[in-house]
Amino acid sequence: MEIIGTIKDMHDLSRALMSQDKTIGFVPTMGALHDGHLSLVRRSKAENDATVVSIFVNPTQFGPNEDFLRYPREVEKDVDKLSAQGVDTIFIPVEREMYPEGFSASINIGKIGEILCGASRPGHFNGVAAVVAKLFNIVMPDRAYFGQKDFQQTVIINKLVKDLNFSVDIVVCPTIRESDGLAMSSRNSYLNSGERKAAVILFKALKLGEELIVSDGIVNAVLIKEEMRKLIHSEPLAAIDYVEIVTANLKEVEKIKLPVAICLAVKIGKTRLIDNLIIDPNNADICSL
Ligand code: AMP
Repeated sequence: MEIIGTIKDMHDLSRALMSQDKTIGFVPTMGALHDGHLSLVRRSKAENDATVVSIFVNPTQFGPNEDFLRYPREVEKDVDKLSAQGVDTIFIPVEREMYPEGFSASINIGKIGEILCGASRPGHFNGVAAVVAKLFNIVMPDRAYFGQKDFQQTVIINKLVKDLNFSVDIVVCPTIRESDGLAMSSRNSYLNSGERKAAVILFKALKLGEELIVSDGIVNAVLIKEEMRKLIHSEPLAAIDYVEIVTANLKEVEKIKLPVAICLAVKIGKTRLIDNLIIDPNNADICSL
């Protein structure tokens, strides 16, 4: 396994792989890796000749009052985990090379970056789009792997690829959960034991929404969201940011017509967590509709 720290070395490696007709699978991460990340790595390894995993806590996707400085950084542990998975290359760029003095380019991904998580995190998705565009130009992958856990992000990356004609296939992989249903997240490490127990309310609310739609046949989205909100309010440590039911293009749904995605963001104590469930009777991948 090779650890690469400069953009030039990454370019050189990708060009060498391409000249040997080898496919490159790419898994961009911010590190503090858990089994959710590793599931993307395994999928990439199964589908490509070489797998590159990047670790970069991207400053431009954090707001001024967000957790950029305290975001967990565990590079040594991450390297061990990736080595155990048989990853070929880890790309760990440094901030001053990604954003040198005078750096001024930006991407405005448009309205889909201003709703749901974008409403309470202004600029977040423009920062995500820009860093992913940079990483695609640096790694030049054939396929890139993202988790459904960040559903809005997958829609935005698909739009970025389409709008800017990147030559990369986006593969969206299922959300990996803890045994009680909590979606794995690097931010779960912020939770104390009481908060960790309370955090299961996100999954419970999603399952309630699913049951109301699938088992009870309720089509009134307002009613479903209201029932979900009531359940979340029953957990004293939880504060709702949003509960929404949307189409594959993130359009708010009034009358349920499958497939839909139930999405939510909830603060547990000071920690903001997100999760979603895709309700699709055909089990098709909503993200590639
Ligand atoms: P992050 O390091 O949080 O930026 O995440 C890197 C990638 O891992 C993103 O594509 C995430 O959607 C994905 N990911 C994070 N958590 C999970 C999870 N629980 N299951 C599947 N993928 C995940």
